[in-house]
Amino acid sequence: MNRDYAEIQEVLIAKRQELASRLERITQNITAGHSADSEEQAQELENAEVVDALGNETRRELSKVASALAQMENETYGICVDCGEDIPLARLRAHPFADRCIRCATAAEARTMR
Ligand SMILES: [Zn+2]
Repeated sequence: MNRDYAEIQEVLIAKRQELASRLERITQNITAGHSADSEEQAQELENAEVVDALGNETRRELSKVASALAQMENETYGICVDCGEDIPLARLRAHPFADRCIRCATAAEARTMR
C-alpha cells in the first residue's frame, strides 16, 4: 500500500497546532487570577468548569490528531480496524479520524443502534 497521505497529514498538523494554542489559551484562563469577592469566586468557579470541559474536549481531539499522525508514521493509518481493507482516500479527506471503511462503519453503527 503506502499511499500518499501528505495532504491529510498537512491538515492534521495544522489542526494540531490550532488545538495546542487553543488549549494553551484555555489553560491560561483557568490559572488566571482569583478575586477576593465570594460571589465573584462562585462565578469564576462556574467559568472554570466550562473552561475545563472545553479543555478536556480539546485534549481529546488533540489525542485523536496525535494518534492519526502516529499511525501515518508507522503506516497503519487508513486501514479499516474491522476488515483490514484500505479506507478510501475520499473518506479520509472528509473524516481524517475514520478508523473503519464505510461498510464496516455502517455495520458498527447499526450494532450500536440496536
Ligand atoms: Zn472495513
